[in-house]
Amino acid sequence: QLLDAKKYVDDVYEVVKKRNQGEEEFHQAVKEVFDSLVPVFAKHPEYIEHNILEQVVEPERIISFRVPWVDDEGKVQVNRGFRVQFNSAIGPYKGGLRFHPSVNASIIKFLGFEQIFKNSLTGQPIGGGKGGSDFDPKGKSDREIMRFCQSFMNELVNHIGPDVDVPAGDIGVGAREVGFMFGQYKRLKGAYEAGVLTGKGVGYGGSLARTEATGYGTVYFVEEMLKDNGDSFKGKTVVVSGSGNVSIYAIEKAHELGAKVVACSDSGGYIYDKNGIDLATVKQLKEVERKRISEYVNHHPEATYHEGSTDIWLVPCDIALPCATQNEINDVSAKILVANGVKAVGEGANMPSTLEAIDIFIKNDVLFGPAKAANAGGVAVSALEMAQNSMRLSWTFAEVDAKLHEIMKNIYKDSVEASVEYGHPGNLVVGSNIAGFKKVANAMISQGV
Ligand code: GLU
Repeated sequence: QLLDAKKYVDDVYEVVKKRNQGEEEFHQAVKEVFDSLVPVFAKHPEYIEHNILEQVVEPERIISFRVPWVDDEGKVQVNRGFRVQFNSAIGPYKGGLRFHPSVNASIIKFLGFEQIFKNSLTGQPIGGGKGGSDFDPKGKSDREIMRFCQSFMNELVNHIGPDVDVPAGDIGVGAREVGFMFGQYKRLKGAYEAGVLTGKGVGYGGSLARTEATGYGTVYFVEEMLKDNGDSFKGKTVVVSGSGNVSIYAIEKAHELGAKVVACSDSGGYIYDKNGIDLATVKQLKEVERKRISEYVNHHPEATYHEGSTDIWLVPCDIALPCATQNEINDVSAKILVANGVKAVGEGANMPSTLEAIDIFIKNDVLFGPAKAANAGGVAVSALEMAQNSMRLSWTFAEVDAKLHEIMKNIYKDSVEASVEYGHPGNLVVGSNIAGFKKVANAMISQGV
């Protein structure tokens, strides 16, 4: 039966490669999930009978659209917008929007595919989706950002709704962008449908603790891994890549739990501060002034700046939290981290480790928290934002944070249990993929073809 299962998975993977030629990131995300699922198909041939894998890997719908906008010089610019509505078996499509020049169909599909299982793992009723644009927000004025967001929404409005598809932020999209998009949606619909977007400002329907949720959640998840192995964050040296929303709040929570974060980065390079990163400076530079991380050394002369963002993994640490972007840790970086004695890795970004890097961590008994599980806190609190919007009330910061903490503990527990049940005890890549997948697959079977 294991052989039948393996053949089924391999056959569908061939179909995926043929149907999605050249989409390497998408192939990578699919391969990771597919490899984990072999023991599931061996145990439950009914999933093969329903050809669930070929269904789940084909998006229900992909929307690609033109986004024209006028820059500050009066020139007409054109970008490409996407929304992938991947799976609605357990709830309305849910997932962020990414504005970054690297965005293309492959990136959006890999993110949307991951989102299906991540969202399922949260235990909340949300399906999987993702969107974005190749628009580069870097160096754009507030007005340009606003005009772009409005144009983006002029088309997206036709495809979303509180019970249909609920976008949020991702790289390049924060509260400012969500605000501009929400305003345009409201104008076009002539109705205040608060639950159509999450990550809104707290003054108009946003949830407290949503900003902090992904970073906090990643640290909560790693804390569970450590606890299970008789360890904790206390006194640990930590490296966190990135300096955006995920990184900032991962650093904040790691510090709160008694660790010392000594390095963080942006796309230009990384800073090393042996005294521990001063988060107030990072917040001021990144959240308020929107400047480069290299400026940190002007405020802290004892710190050093190093060009080349992925060289951050040369910094020795006990715990590594990749919170920047996909494939930021390759096999070379993984080997260096292992050689330097890393004990735990928690993925705050989406797919930050290559398949080879994951293999190296697992083979060397590094505690490894995969993205789907470890960064699910953001979307989990987005689902709590939807719930609050539906009830027309808002919970306190402490209430939302407590729910987030509980959700992260449950994701850890469910992933461990699935890893044991399917013969890979402690392998959270396998465990989280299986736990996320089964709920979606069962819902799909119940709902018929
Ligand atoms: N972009 C985040 C993620 O990758 C959050 C999505 C959301 O809140 O809908 O999960």
